[in-house]
Amino acid sequence: MMLSPSTGSENLEDDLWHDELATIPPRSRLFHLEPVGVGTPLVESLTSYFIRLADAHSVAPVNLIREVLPLFKDGKFQHVTYKAPTEVFNLSTWALNGTSSRAIELVNSLQTLTARQDLRALTLLPLAGILNTSRDCLFHKYRRWCPFCYEDWRVASKTIYEPLLWSIKHTDVCLKHKKQLQDRCPHCMKATQPLMGYSRPGCCAKCQNWLGIALESHSCDDEVDTSNTLLWSLYVAATLGEAIANASYEPSLFCRKIVVSAISTYIENLSEGNMSRFCRLVDLPDRALREALTDGTPPMLQKLLKICHKLNIGLVDFLTAKSVSTNNLLSFQPAPKKLEEQLKRSIGKRVDKEELQLILEAAVEENPPPLITEVVNRTHYIASTVRNYFPELYESIKNRSGQWVDKPRIERIIAEALEENPPPPLTTVAERTGFCVQTVRKYFSKECHRIIERVNQSRDERIQAALIAAADENPPPALAEVARRLGYSGSSSYIRRVAPDACKIIIEHYNAHRNHLARLRIEHHIAEVKEVIERLSLLGKPFTKYTVKVNLQNPHIIRKKYIQEMLRDVLQ
Ligand SMILES: [Zn+2]
Ligand SMILES: [Zn+2]
Repeated sequence: MMLSPSTGSENLEDDLWHDELATIPPRSRLFHLEPVGVGTPLVESLTSYFIRLADAHSVAPVNLIREVLPLFKDGKFQHVTYKAPTEVFNLSTWALNGTSSRAIELVNSLQTLTARQDLRALTLLPLAGILNTSRDCLFHKYRRWCPFCYEDWRVASKTIYEPLLWSIKHTDVCLKHKKQLQDRCPHCMKATQPLMGYSRPGCCAKCQNWLGIALESHSCDDEVDTSNTLLWSLYVAATLGEAIANASYEPSLFCRKIVVSAISTYIENLSEGNMSRFCRLVDLPDRALREALTDGTPPMLQKLLKICHKLNIGLVDFLTAKSVSTNNLLSFQPAPKKLEEQLKRSIGKRVDKEELQLILEAAVEENPPPLITEVVNRTHYIASTVRNYFPELYESIKNRSGQWVDKPRIERIIAEALEENPPPPLTTVAERTGFCVQTVRKYFSKECHRIIERVNQSRDERIQAALIAAADENPPPALAEVARRLGYSGSSSYIRRVAPDACKIIIEHYNAHRNHLARLRIEHHIAEVKEVIERLSLLGKPFTKYTVKVNLQNPHIIRKKYIQEMLRDVLQ
C-alpha cells in the first residue's frame, strides 16, 4: 500500500516516499537460472539445465518434475500424471534435447516457470529446419560426458553442466581434450539416461559418485587412436558446434529451403547438374540425394555432414553456399587416389580433342594391346568423356584388350596371393592383375572363391584370438566393448557366432567383476555408516537417521535398502 507524504511536517523521512509506484519486475515461480553458453558451440543441453535447476532448488529432478508436468499442454502426456511423475524418466529422456513435441512442451513449461526466453537454444529446435527428423535418430540413448572437462570445471570452480554437443550421436570426442566421451560410470559400470530421477550435475545418477577425472591421473588406454576417426569426430563436433552457435543468431539460415538450394548449387557448380556424379564425388551412394531434390526433404544429418566434410567446409558455410570452388575439395583429408584423379579430370577441364585422339590412335596400334583402363588413365579424362568423344576408338581398344587377357600371368598372381599371409582381399588381387574383380572372377572363379574363404578364415581367427586375449584381461571388459574394438560396434552377434565359448567367458568375467565391485561398494557404505554411528556415540550424541545422514560423505547412500535395514536394527 502506498503512503502519501504528510503535508504538515517537513522532515527527512518525507523525502523517502515517492508518489509513483515502485516498479517490481515480474516474479518467477522457479529461479531465473541462466543457462550456460547460449550462442556458443558449448551451449548447455535442456536436460542438463533441468538437472541444474533442480540442484539450485536443492531438490532431485524427480521432485522438480512435479512442478513442470502440470504445465504440459499436449494430451499425449496426460498419462504422465502428477502422482507418477517418475514415468517421465522411463520415456526416452534423450529426446528432450531434440525437436520432439515433448522437447517443445518442456521448453515452454520451463520458460513459464523461470521467466526465461532463451531455453529453446538448449535443444536442437533451432536446427529443426535442416534436419530430417522423421528418419534421423540424432541422440545417444545414454548420457555422455568428458570426465576431464568435469574435473577442470570443478577445480576452477566453474558451473558443472553438460553441453548439448555431447549428447548428439555423431559427435564422439571432447573438442577441448580430444578424448572419447564416456557413457559408463567408472564406479558402478552403469550407463544411464541423460535425465533421471536423481541426476546431479557431474555425478552418476545411479551411484551418485563424482564422474570427473584429472587428466594427469588418467591412463591412456581408451584414447581415440586412429587419426582418421579422430579427424572425422573432431570435424563433426566442431562443425555441429558452430551450427548450434549460429542457429540462435541466424534462424533464417537453418531452413529446409536453404539446405536443398545449397545442395542444388553445389551439384550445379561441381558436377554440371549431374546428381549421380556429385554423389560419387562426395562418396555417397548413387542418387542418395534424390529425395532432397525431388521432395525438398533435407538429407539425413550424417549425409549432410559427409558432404560438407568432403567439400572441406563447415555446415554453416555450406548453407550459405560459400566458397564453391574445387580447389579446397578434399584437402582436409587425403581422399582415395581414384576419387582425387576423377575429380581432377572431370571438373573444369576443357577437352583437348586432338591430344585425346592421338593418344587413342597410338593405343589402337600398340602391342600387346593395353587395357582400356590404362589408356583412359593416360588421357587424364574419365572413361565416359573418352567414350563420348571417340566411341569407335574406345570400343576397339576395349575389344582388343579384352581378347588379350594374359591368363598365365593372372594365374601366377592369384597363386602368389593364395600363399600370402595375411591373405590379401580379392579387390587387392584384382588390382594387381590390372583387371576388375568381375573379369578375374569370370576366368578364375574357383580360385577367387578360395581367396574369399581365406580372407574370411583369417578374419575369424583374428576375432577368436582377440576374444581369447580379452577373456584374460583385467579388469574384464564388457563384450560390447570388445566387439567395438574389433569394429563390430553395432552388435556382437557375429563375434558370438565365431567364438561362442570365449564370449561366454568374457560375459561371465565381466558380470563377476561388476558383482565384486557392487559388493565392495556395499561393504564400503556399511563401514562408513558404522564409523559415523561409532563417532556419534563416542561424542555422546544421540543418533537418528537424520544425524547419521548429515555426517555421511555421500548422504544419498542413506536411501539404500541395506543401509535402511542396518539402521533399523541399530536403532531398535
Ligand atoms: Zn573435455
Ligand atoms: Zn555410477
